[in-house]
Amino acid sequence: MNIDLSVVIPIYNEAAGLHSLFARLYPALDKLSAELSLRYELILIDDGSRDASPAMLREQFNQRPDVTRVVLLAVNAGQHMAIKAGFEVTRGTTVVTLDADLQNPPEEISKLLVKMREGYDYVGGYRRERQDSAFRKYPSRLLNRIRERTTRIRMRDQGCMLRAYSRPIIDAINHSNEVNLYIPALAFIYARKPTDVEVAHEERAAGESKYPLSKLIRLNFDLMTGFSLMPLQMFSMIGMVTAIISTAAFIFLAIRRVMHGADADGVFTLFSFTFMLLGVALFGMGLLGEYIGRIYQQVQSRPRYLIQAILEQTPSDTNDVTTGQRPS
Ligand code: UDP
Ligand code: MG
Repeated sequence: MNIDLSVVIPIYNEAAGLHSLFARLYPALDKLSAELSLRYELILIDDGSRDASPAMLREQFNQRPDVTRVVLLAVNAGQHMAIKAGFEVTRGTTVVTLDADLQNPPEEISKLLVKMREGYDYVGGYRRERQDSAFRKYPSRLLNRIRERTTRIRMRDQGCMLRAYSRPIIDAINHSNEVNLYIPALAFIYARKPTDVEVAHEERAAGESKYPLSKLIRLNFDLMTGFSLMPLQMFSMIGMVTAIISTAAFIFLAIRRVMHGADADGVFTLFSFTFMLLGVALFGMGLLGEYIGRIYQQVQSRPRYLIQAILEQTPSDTNDVTTGQRPS
């Protein structure tokens, strides 16, 4: 019972949109499986939702137990951890991730698969005409640019979760036990032949974004600190340059004092200069804190998610009498 495609979807308080998701997703996947003659499985991870999502997933499992597997996490672990919990149970030779809110149209999965068949092992989507608020789009564009400059990770659109990964990449991710995960970037460092394709993007079908600003900032710190030491290194450069300049200024002022006597002019310049340095120093301390905090979490090495239940067919439920073996 070989599975060709595992589709992994993290779900957090998405009850309002799950019906429309399933109504579009299953037909799209069934069509794909008929056209490309492949076997698929759909892995739905509930990321500790507090709405009706878990109950709806149970019901969905009962409707399509042949292709559906559900992982219920006990508490909210975050989108990327939830995806990883899904990766751990995937069996497909290719794995595709997408969002539950229909922003990534399921019909676009075939585009990724075509590229995978051409021999790429990691295919990222980039969103044509991204349908989000300007408040989300422009910062995201800037962050993409910063990531491009400060890390070795090359991808068009880091925020697009419509992506396809080959089995070896999934296995490598499953063996990574970093605490602050950013799946698209982590996959990139294990990819042998990555590429990007353009995919459509739609407005959220129902409900609201599950990313308040604070969560978004934290996620981007995960990306930057996880894949680059550049922020810290940049800091030591700034520190060095300001130290040299202020030493020179100090020497100059000391000589002037000896030659012309004390003067009280320019106090405000001095203040502003001091506050600037203070600001730089505080930011630097904060940055150090970001790394140290992550090291601390890593050292604690707590389990990052807790599975409450997995709903899946056991081999005895299936009609697979020909082999009678465990599917994995
Ligand atoms: N999500 C999740 N856990 C979280 C936050 C989000 O599993 O803690 C899921 C969410 O249900 C959706 C996907 O991650 O399927 C992307 O979230 P969302 O659409 O809110 O992000 P946005 O499109 O606003 O960036
Ligand atoms: Mg979304």
